Amino acid sequence: MARSASLPNTVVIDVPEQSLYGTGNLPYGVFSPGDGAPRGGVRIGDWVLDLAVLLNDDVFTEPTLNAFMAQGYQRWAEVRALIEEAVAGPVPQKAVYAHDAVRMHLPFAVADYVDFYASEHHAMNVGRLFRPTAESLLPNWRHLPVGYHGRAGTVVVSGTEIVRPRGQRKAPAADQPTYGDSHRLDIEAEIGFVVGTGSSLGVPVPSTDFSRHVFGAVLVNDWSARDIQAWEYVPLGPLLGKSFATSVSPWVVPLQALQAARVPGVVQDPLPLPYLREDQPWGLDIQMSVAWNGHEVSRPPYRTMYWSPAQMLAHMTVNGANLRTGDLYASGTVSGPEIPERGSFLELTWNGTEPVQVGGQTRRFLEDGDEVVITATAPGCDGSRLGFGEVRGRIGPSTTASPSL
Ligand code: CA
Repeated sequence: MARSASLPNTVVIDVPEQSLYGTGNLPYGVFSPGDGAPRGGVRIGDWVLDLAVLLNDDVFTEPTLNAFMAQGYQRWAEVRALIEEAVAGPVPQKAVYAHDAVRMHLPFAVADYVDFYASEHHAMNVGRLFRPTAESLLPNWRHLPVGYHGRAGTVVVSGTEIVRPRGQRKAPAADQPTYGDSHRLDIEAEIGFVVGTGSSLGVPVPSTDFSRHVFGAVLVNDWSARDIQAWEYVPLGPLLGKSFATSVSPWVVPLQALQAARVPGVVQDPLPLPYLREDQPWGLDIQMSVAWNGHEVSRPPYRTMYWSPAQMLAHMTVNGANLRTGDLYASGTVSGPEIPERGSFLELTWNGTEPVQVGGQTRRFLEDGDEVVITATAPGCDGSRLGFGEVRGRIGPSTTASPSL
């Protein structure tokens, strides 16, 4: 609750002990209060605090977090300490909004978007499905974090309707491709990492500089049209099967909040090249959940990922490509070793051959009107858990195609 304080026009924020949004979390987002313009906020308990008012800092009147993120990791730590200090006492009433009453926006302007493929279980499953007669893992997979450049302009915030993509696809037994609605529309449950400060062109960023450049983490749903993807991806990788939309959660969990979620990394064999080695390899113990039309169908465990976020960052820049504020790189589908830990429906239904029951209905891939919600929690400091909020998307019917198509 926010209750009246002894000072006029102030309230005290009470956070229930079990809240996923205690002072150990403090995720940043961009919200609209009522009819107001988008501005920076922090979530605490069931409240959103207007940071420009709370901290008297104009950088949070911006419609994205980019200007704040560009101020650098030392400023991120200072602001986090200022927020902790502010919410420990009475806060101005005009800084406090109920979380349910505000509209959330894309929290940062996305610069470049790269999507990796860092789960060994996912890569093995996809290999078995797409190349059943070959080795499941291609020869490069254990030597480098495989990835591709996605489409930054179609990264959308949670809640945005996903229009069913159309495109060219060819059934294995068909002679010719056809054009039309994707019939194999899927999800990929991922964690995304948001770059706060850029780097210089030509200068690789070592894995040890991860926390200087990466501001925080979000949930990602990399919507995927499997029929379009399967026909187009050879030999250069996915394009239109992925680029129609990628959803992200509105709250960016700061790296500082994820300190207690760090766990030892998985064993990497063979030892990667020196630029990918870490003195103490680490992963993140983020427990994800995927709900299909309100029914949980999977619980992907991020701690099982093969390549770490710092290794992905080092690899992304090892050729001299520079980082920019707002770059987003995602982990790739998070799949654990067990069936109910698979982070895509392609894997969960084994390419549609093993349908799942969702609330009494049979599902292989997404149908119009279906809704997917991905959530996640992680260990916080002092034994608490922290939440990532959610990334939600509902499938809408495809738009009518031009007759000439
Ligand atoms: Ca992906």
